[in-house]
Amino acid sequence: MSLTTERTGVAPRRTAEEVARAEARTAHNYHPLPVVLSEAEGAWLTDVDGRRFLDFLAGYSALNFGHGHPRLLAAAHAQLDRLTLTSRAFVHDRFADFCAALGDLAGKDMVLPMNTGAEAVETAIKVSRKWGYDVKGVPDGTARIIVAAGNFHGRTTTIVGFSDDPDARGGFGPFTPGFDIVPYGDLAALEAAITPSTVGVLIEPIQGESGVVIPPDDYLPGVRALCTREQVLFVADEIQAGLGRTGRTFACDHADVVPDLYVLGKALGGGVVPVSAVVGDRDVLGVLHPGQHGSTFGGNPLACAVGLKVVEMLRTGEFQAHAAALGVVLHDRLAAMVGHGVVSFRSRGLWAGVDIDPTLGSGRDVCERLMARGVLAKDTHGSTIRLAPPLVISADDLGWGLDRLEEALR
Ligand SMILES: *Cc1c(COP(=O)(O)O)cnc(C)c1O
Repeated sequence: MSLTTERTGVAPRRTAEEVARAEARTAHNYHPLPVVLSEAEGAWLTDVDGRRFLDFLAGYSALNFGHGHPRLLAAAHAQLDRLTLTSRAFVHDRFADFCAALGDLAGKDMVLPMNTGAEAVETAIKVSRKWGYDVKGVPDGTARIIVAAGNFHGRTTTIVGFSDDPDARGGFGPFTPGFDIVPYGDLAALEAAITPSTVGVLIEPIQGESGVVIPPDDYLPGVRALCTREQVLFVADEIQAGLGRTGRTFACDHADVVPDLYVLGKALGGGVVPVSAVVGDRDVLGVLHPGQHGSTFGGNPLACAVGLKVVEMLRTGEFQAHAAALGVVLHDRLAAMVGHGVVSFRSRGLWAGVDIDPTLGSGRDVCERLMARGVLAKDTHGSTIRLAPPLVISADDLGWGLDRLEEALR
């Protein structure tokens, strides 16, 4: 755990060069921390100047199984030598196994594989509308979907159109109509917003980008009951919250709630390839017929081989159990920091949103201080930072990283 180079606060030569080269030749749609990574294993990353960093972000949950997990790499390597891409014009021999395994993990009949999270959300929107017209009987062209304030569902024009984050939507209109925004966690507001035209309620069971916002205990069961009563699809975006992050397979599991559609991504690709999916029963996903939706890369052999291994790893429950056990440590350590640089926090499993005392600087400032101490984390909004270490992190490493956070808040 000792760091190989001394930390002076001044970026070493190769780091400074690579940051400048990247700045010069890429659109500035990100503001990355000035660290240039070149290798990683498990929860640890190494940069071009030989410095080591503990990963407290895990690719926003895309790296739930850490960097270079041997079982995932073996699955990817084996598939690379066999077959990588066919398009869905043909069937390949990894496709049925992946869909069956993922469907079983979610307790659902059918899987529709895509690539990125945003594509899976778009898929869920299309499926909800089509279900509304074909099954519920909503007049054509009038379907509405209810979403929550503070949502983050991706970056396509339709999706940012129902975001209430001015950075995400500003300058990108006109937007797709048909969405209604209600306050997150507010059942009465949701109930009031449902009309005969409502076909779906699309929410995150825990809002990640908003700062790991956990709704009241009765919220998800209440959403389920309302959707059932009003004949509306409950669409749970578990792209960041799902697949072990919270200590359960799905964040909805904590509330014993089963949505009509799970929207999955990020960790489904094992940190190797982008893999996303919409998972649901035949009475919903069955509304799609040939030619009505698709993706050249969706469900490709490499994605299916890696995704199948991810599902197999989750099936044993070991990663969920580890996340739940270390989640207690994370929670208790953060609780002890309240009043000592931390104003408040929310956590579930190995996932926390930490509101920093604004007099200590912005969330970005704290992340820079963490980086100088060998921990990589990311601010979300203002003075909130998100902690989401890989689920393979050891108790010792987690403790070491939290010691660094304590230091950074002094
Ligand atoms: C990251 C994320 C998305 C978008 O996924 P991409 O792969 O970046 O398109 C959608 N929903 C949630 C909740 C996310 O965290």
